[in-house]
Amino acid sequence: MKTRRGYEEPIADLVILGGGYSARLTALALSSLRPVGAILCADDLWEIETGPEKLSGQRAHSHIFLPRLEQELQRINPSLVGELAELGLRFRPGSQRLSADAPAAARRLFATRWQFDKAIHELFLRHVTADHVRDQVVDAIVENDAIVALELRSGTQLQVAPNTLVIDAMGARSPIMAKLSAEAETVIDQPGQLTYVTQFFRLDRKDCDSAGLPDPLIDCPQDFGAVKAMLYPGLDGWFSISLAVSSQRKDLIQSLRDQEAFIAFCRQSPLLGRWVGAASALGPTRIYINPRNRWNAAVFEEGRAPRNCLAVGDALATMLPTLGANCSFAATHVRIIRDLLESGTGRVQDEFAQSVRAEQFPFFQRALAEPQATEGVISYANAPNNVLLKRLKRHLRRLFGKDRKRIIKQLSETSSL
Ligand SMILES: Cc1cc2nc3c(=O)[nH]c(=O)nc-3n(C[C@H](O)[C@H](O)[C@H](O)COP(=O)(O)OP(=O)(O)OC[C@H]3O[C@@H](n4cnc5c(N)ncnc54)[C@H](O)[C@@H]3O)c2cc1C
Repeated sequence: MKTRRGYEEPIADLVILGGGYSARLTALALSSLRPVGAILCADDLWEIETGPEKLSGQRAHSHIFLPRLEQELQRINPSLVGELAELGLRFRPGSQRLSADAPAAARRLFATRWQFDKAIHELFLRHVTADHVRDQVVDAIVENDAIVALELRSGTQLQVAPNTLVIDAMGARSPIMAKLSAEAETVIDQPGQLTYVTQFFRLDRKDCDSAGLPDPLIDCPQDFGAVKAMLYPGLDGWFSISLAVSSQRKDLIQSLRDQEAFIAFCRQSPLLGRWVGAASALGPTRIYINPRNRWNAAVFEEGRAPRNCLAVGDALATMLPTLGANCSFAATHVRIIRDLLESGTGRVQDEFAQSVRAEQFPFFQRALAEPQATEGVISYANAPNNVLLKRLKRHLRRLFGKDRKRIIKQLSETSSL
């Protein structure tokens, strides 16, 4: 890792680029340490879309929130977890078969992405005051190794002082990170070879209670070869099913976009079928093509970014959505910046790059090693996990309450801790 000069003068304030989850969390976490001069994004920062009908991009897909997020929020500001809980978003045991004393690594937060965003937005409104510049960033103008202005789509510029820390939270399509990463030598960029097709549902039961339905994370995941199915519960009876389909199977992707075909496919699994049978599909199916494993943090490791610039969230790194870890690691990025600002270090960029590598890179490498989907579709009955003997063993373990240890192991291994 190349080391570079530290700040010549202490960081006076912040400019945050982007209006998504990472931008809001950055503002929430850092505004008590430095004034947030401006938040710059094209969307309306004071409103947030909810419900499955209007959403697009990753927000229109299934989400799960891992215990790393709970721990990072605790570290950023312990009251945030409590405030989220008051808004109905609670981390709890990730399986119906675990009790409240389950280890931290076995906990999960179940919410649709819009429910989560709405709660983060509510906290943002409560705690952050900042000017919103409603425009799109086109480029950063750099002089003497520092961003001095941001070039905007409207043709205007936003001036930036060299001692203003510019935090890029513009997601995977950040124009600033695209330019910097094109020059870096050690950026990792691997296509995921999967396409996600998602359908949202809501339970028809009046109380929206999912009691008696199969355990979402333990019983419902199903490997159909070229298609992997996952069910993600949310609040108020909402849930979604995402099918991760081998990107080579364009025919299959096309056919699964049809709602009836999607539901028929899910019903092959009697366990998914019980959820689907108790609910109504709402909104159309959504598709997300080929998300990538991308390590843009190399830009900072190689010392290529202007010295008053950092990136968080998808602008810094993305990993396969199947791992469900990106929102959690975005909180790690934000917490690291918070710790560095609090420590008063003069080497924010170097120390940020080192911490991100130490804390995220081992997990990122696992994302690279994820097995690629096969092309053929395996029926439910023929899936390796469903052979009679395995089903019988599972049933007996469950019947005699012997599955707790395995469940904790499974949830802990996928916890991102
Ligand atoms: C199918 C799928 C499923 C996923 N499931 C999970 C999951 O289960 N758990 C999990 O933790 N994560 C999951 N993720 C990842 C998660 O959705 C992302 O990590 C998260 O949304 C990143 O948030 P962000 O704020 O960094 O970026 P974004 O949400 O992309 O936000 C970027 C913001 O920047 C703004 N912006 C962009 N360009 C500009 C510009 N030029 N100028 C100004 N503003 C700009 C945008 O308008 C937006 O407001 C999933 C992703 C996908 C694709």
